[in-house]
Amino acid sequence: MLEKLIPAKADPILGLGKLFAADARENKIDLGVGVYKDADGKTPIMTAVKKAEVRLHAEQTSKSYKALAGDEVFRDEMRKLVLGDAVAADRVATLQAPGGTGALHQLFEAMKLLNPDATIWVSNPSWPSHVAMAKHLGFKTENYDYFDPATSGVDFNGLMVSLQGMQAGDMLVLHGCCHNPTGANLTANQWQSITDLVLEKNVMPLVDIAYQGFGDGLQEDAIYMRTMASRMPEMMVAASCSKNFGLYRDRVGCAMVIAKDADSATVTQGNLATLNRMNYSFAPDHGAALVAIILSDSELRAEWEAELEEMRLAMLTVREDLAEALRQQCNSDHFDFIKDHRGMFSRLGLSPEQVEMLRVDHGMYVVGDSRINVPGLSGGRVAPFAKAVSMVAN
Ligand code: PLP
Repeated sequence: MLEKLIPAKADPILGLGKLFAADARENKIDLGVGVYKDADGKTPIMTAVKKAEVRLHAEQTSKSYKALAGDEVFRDEMRKLVLGDAVAADRVATLQAPGGTGALHQLFEAMKLLNPDATIWVSNPSWPSHVAMAKHLGFKTENYDYFDPATSGVDFNGLMVSLQGMQAGDMLVLHGCCHNPTGANLTANQWQSITDLVLEKNVMPLVDIAYQGFGDGLQEDAIYMRTMASRMPEMMVAASCSKNFGLYRDRVGCAMVIAKDADSATVTQGNLATLNRMNYSFAPDHGAALVAIILSDSELRAEWEAELEEMRLAMLTVREDLAEALRQQCNSDHFDFIKDHRGMFSRLGLSPEQVEMLRVDHGMYVVGDSRINVPGLSGGRVAPFAKAVSMVAN
């Protein structure tokens, strides 16, 4: 039977990583995969996470199963971290999931129960798994305009025109902050207009928040999404702890479903737990247990917040330095948008040929759509990269 399988498409970003590893040049720079890197090019374990691991090791007395929906402290702390007090706690059903990807998967599955004929609306461009997963689960998908290459900002007119095509019962996927791959983000007013439209069209919003704390701050990054949540009778949120806790491989995420009232939330909660049972039963515990320890301990939490803030500021510094270096190198303000973008990524607006030249001629590894992983430039890598960009762009 296996002869029916056709070779799977290689992941282009992981493929880029392999090319990078095989490149013998000493001054090569990896701006591909989306992981935070410090000045030494390392992806560190946060000190609060290390301390929580020590505590977990000392205090954990059993590895027996927990609740099917996951650890209650983790889920409640995540709800507060993401939604603040925008929505009453008894209106929110929560589910521990393996990473943000697992949370998104479970929410798409929940959507299958609500409306299997829904079209899932995804920004153009977006993180590729949005469309891939929605299609894999049998949904139709549509793109909405998002990025304006002329300004490297959001094409909000285009976005609103495309979203006029949404039908009642469809789902709209929004990035909560730090848009991947562009780095261009919606303003408060734009979030309000989208919320008006979603309410008018009777569409289910699914906010994917994978970078809370990487943009303007831990609270600031959630604020627009919270305002939307406070106005919506129903909404879904997928949160990832991969980046802001540095727990990538431990697979920690939380799916949240806001229901119109407490009764509906109770029914939803039971259905979410069943979805875990149907897919993998219990979500992995270790990373979620660490997040629960950190978020519910004031000292560890303060340490985590300070470290996260340090990471955020380091990324902002790279942005400012890169914009300035490109100003100098290119003698133009063309790349100034880099300092207005937020999060781990910026789309530079280079052609595939220019991206290829960066790799072949200069050992600079950038994703084909010219997305750069901003923290990959810390530790003195801005200047050589800006020089290389100016050489291929001119
Ligand atoms: N959503 C977006 C937009 C992402 O960029 C990512 C990771 O790159 C995720 C979700 C999920 O990440 P993870 O499954 O590693 O938590």
